[in-house]
Amino acid sequence: MKIYVDFDDCLCETARAFSVMVEKLFGKYVPYEKVRYFNLQDAFELTDEEYERLMIEGHRPENILSLEETPGAAEVLNEWAMKGHEVSIITGRPFSAYESSRKWLDDHGLGNIKMYCLNKYGRDTFIKNSDFNLELEDYYKMHFDYAVEDSPMAFKFFDHLPDIKVMVYDRPWNREDELPNDNYCRCFDWEQIRGMVD
Ligand SMILES: [Mg+2]
Repeated sequence: MKIYVDFDDCLCETARAFSVMVEKLFGKYVPYEKVRYFNLQDAFELTDEEYERLMIEGHRPENILSLEETPGAAEVLNEWAMKGHEVSIITGRPFSAYESSRKWLDDHGLGNIKMYCLNKYGRDTFIKNSDFNLELEDYYKMHFDYAVEDSPMAFKFFDHLPDIKVMVYDRPWNREDELPNDNYCRCFDWEQIRGMVD
C-alpha cells in the first residue's frame, strides 16, 4: 500500500505549541480546543504582522524540534514500513523548515521514511528543483491508497484518487466541516488509524 501522511497535527502537536507561542508573543490566549479555523491568522485573531512573526517563530529549528509527537504516530509509521507499505510524509511546511523537520523525524525513529514539501497552501517560500520539493505536477503522478490528513484545505489533493481512503485526524478545526464523501473517515487516534489500514 502507498500511504500519504501529513506532518503537522497528524504526526505532532503543532497547534498546541502554536497556542502557547501566541500567548507568549502577543498575550492572546486561545486554547487548543478553541482553535476553530485551520488558518492560524483567523484562529488566533492575528494582525498581518503578528501572523508573519508567528510563522517565523514557529518555523525556527528549536521550535520545530520541540514539537510533541502525537501519541503512537512513529510506532504505526514504522510498523507500516516494516510490513512493506510505502509511506510518504507530504507536508505543507515551507522549504526553510525542511532540515529541522527531517531532524525531527530522524530523532523520532523515522529516519527511513521519506518526506516531501508540497506547496499545499499557496505559500511563496518554496524552492524549485530540490529532491524533497514536490511540484504539483509530480505530486499528481503519485498514487496513494490511504492518507492521513487533518486539514480540510488539503482535501482537494485527493480528488484525483477515487479509491483512496482518507483518515481525517480529528481536530477542533475540522469538526464543523462535513467530510466530502464516503472515502473519508474521522479518526481519533493512531490506534484507530492503524486498524483502518490493517
Ligand atoms: Mg496538518
